[in-house]
Amino acid sequence: MTRCYNFCAGPAALPEEVLQQAQRDLCDWQGKGLSVMEMSHRSAEFVGIAEQAEADLRELLAVPDDYACLFLQGGASSQFSAVPLNLLGSASKADYVNTGQWSKKAIAEAKRYCDVSVVASSETTNFTTIPDFENWELRSDAAYLHYTPNETIGGLEFHWVPDVDVPLAADMSSTILSRPFDVSKFGVIYAGAQKNIGPAGLTIILVRKELLGKAHPLTPAMLNYQTQADGDSMYNTPPTFAWYLAGLVFKWLKERGGLNAMAEVNQRKAKALYNAIDTSHFYANPVELQSRSWMNIPFTLANSDLDKLFLSEAEERGLLNLKGHRSVGGMRASVYNAVSEQAVATLIDFMHDFEKRNA
Ligand code: PMP
Repeated sequence: MTRCYNFCAGPAALPEEVLQQAQRDLCDWQGKGLSVMEMSHRSAEFVGIAEQAEADLRELLAVPDDYACLFLQGGASSQFSAVPLNLLGSASKADYVNTGQWSKKAIAEAKRYCDVSVVASSETTNFTTIPDFENWELRSDAAYLHYTPNETIGGLEFHWVPDVDVPLAADMSSTILSRPFDVSKFGVIYAGAQKNIGPAGLTIILVRKELLGKAHPLTPAMLNYQTQADGDSMYNTPPTFAWYLAGLVFKWLKERGGLNAMAEVNQRKAKALYNAIDTSHFYANPVELQSRSWMNIPFTLANSDLDKLFLSEAEERGLLNLKGHRSVGGMRASVYNAVSEQAVATLIDFMHDFEKRNA
């Protein structure tokens, strides 16, 4: 078997050791004679798997006890509605920061439910900068402030947490678990699993318990944080196999030294790739230096006519999914936790070689 280096933005690379463990467990989980996929979600076996996964996630992120941790379906996109439905309470206003395509989607959805103010936007720089915090026009009567700490498409990342007086809601889909951060600064954190957590089909939500119980009466039970917290994320059948697999990823992260260790590796990977881009006249990344993503690294070639050739030669060498998002073009290397330093080094070697032959 030859495994390629996978730079997909999501569903993204999973650790090989995790896939091998899942393969061993696939037909017969721990000698029980059945697959995790065939277990009742109410069985002692699955409840054990689910509880262990939650405990490991809480340990990795040092989640305070006054936060609920939900394992739901619907993707991060369903949270674009869940956040306003759960957090508005009797308020009618919510503040949003617009730093790219995912912010925009969250904003569009929130507008169905409330008076949305875009308090800061970097649209004028084509989302290559983070708006200066001093100029954010925050409203004291907003129910919450929503932002996207890492824009997966633009490769624009906050390397700081906004300090605001209202609950902070964050779409951490493409940055969660890449390094430690202080959960207590946030009211709600949500993330689709298919990048740094596990397979698609699972969405993780961390919510401060004091924010529960305020959902709009028309909130679907499936999106109601209180209902889901009360039912241990088993109001209905949860995405059992994805939950189990995320649990294997959490164990893999713990074995590697947790998020401090991941942060070191991730920073080295990002530094190496940005360095390769910045020291060449052939490749370019437009994002301001202090706001470059550690996880999603877009770059363009000096001549976009060469894009196709770059991608096909990369694929021949086992470097997959480097095509940039359809809305921006160019290339993008997503270098989540499961993408090794070796993978990044191989990509950089290829980039140098391609440049030599085509510049
Ligand atoms: N937010 C961000 C930052 C994302 O990167 C993505 C997926 N690429 C989404 C939201 C949407 O996630 P999902 O497909 O799980 O709904």
